[in-house]
Amino acid sequence: MLAALLKMMSDGQFHSGEELGRALGVSRAAVWKALKRLEDGGYPIQRVRGRGYRVPPEASLLDLDVIRAHLAPAADATIRWQLLDSVDSTNIELMRSVGAVAESGIKVCLAEQQSAGKGRRGRQWASPYAQNIYLSIALPFSEGAQKLEGLSLLVGLVLVETLEGGGFSGCTLKWPNDVLLDGRKLAGILVEIAGDLTSECVAIVGIGVNVLMERPEDAIEQPWTSLLLSRQAGVLDRNLLVARFIQRLLDSLEVFRQEGFSPFVPAWQRRHGWQGLQVVVEAGTTRQQGRALGVDARGALRLETDSGEVSLHGGEVSLRLER
Ligand code: ATP
Repeated sequence: MLAALLKMMSDGQFHSGEELGRALGVSRAAVWKALKRLEDGGYPIQRVRGRGYRVPPEASLLDLDVIRAHLAPAADATIRWQLLDSVDSTNIELMRSVGAVAESGIKVCLAEQQSAGKGRRGRQWASPYAQNIYLSIALPFSEGAQKLEGLSLLVGLVLVETLEGGGFSGCTLKWPNDVLLDGRKLAGILVEIAGDLTSECVAIVGIGVNVLMERPEDAIEQPWTSLLLSRQAGVLDRNLLVARFIQRLLDSLEVFRQEGFSPFVPAWQRRHGWQGLQVVVEAGTTRQQGRALGVDARGALRLETDSGEVSLHGGEVSLRLER
């Protein structure tokens, strides 16, 4: 019902509660209740007395036909698509179907909402309905997990480049897997691997990008922002952003499969938010301090410490600016 309601209100026109109820075969009260639920969840519904309700044109629901129409046919032909109204986590969903994915190439899973969206180390990813991008993409690799070094950094770079192309400036990368905007967390990336780590494996790349989210979220314990909150005049249409991101990712992967992360190091470092700054790296109970020098060809963070330069690999590591 929520999806049908939003779809009707996404045509740019205002609709009265009565009209919406008639079209959906429910009472006006039921429409009002559903709209209230969406508004309480932070969904941007515009309500004008005497005219009715609509959702801002750029806030339309995800639509595979629209996304696919923005992709090059050759790219679209390589992908199997899945769009869900709600799911526990798009990464978990692809993990469940990974056997089938290995046979048939790339699979993309998108959802309007995640009930158990996850970050690294089992942390939660706040995923309210129809406001953000929750996207996972399953990418088969035939030469084992070692070929995946730097993949999560590449995905972050591709995401930042997509947002820059959409008119947003000031997006930076935080090693290993976050995108910041105005110094606040805008997006997270989670790469998980299924299959045989020494030969045929599938990388499941999950991204969460805050697009229209404005309201405080309990699950977020650090400063965050969304594209809407940035108040920049960039593209907020999630369908367009998803299509552009996937297209750019597939193009970059052609290079990555041949040459690894190394050709992308300069572009990554240009967007490195903490380049040259003093940082603290926490891994479990150990803590290391130093100056972030950038990344190497394998995607490791180069850290200048009192005892010389060290290279740190992703995994369980957490990075903070030194205060
Ligand atoms: P950190 O960001 O602390 O370095 P991490 O990179 O391991 O850790 P992620 O796995 O990317 O973190 O994401 C989980 C963390 O992100 C949560 O602990 C929470 O604070 C924050 N978070 C959860 N949902 C969102 C969201 N929608 N937008 C921004 N941040 C979020």
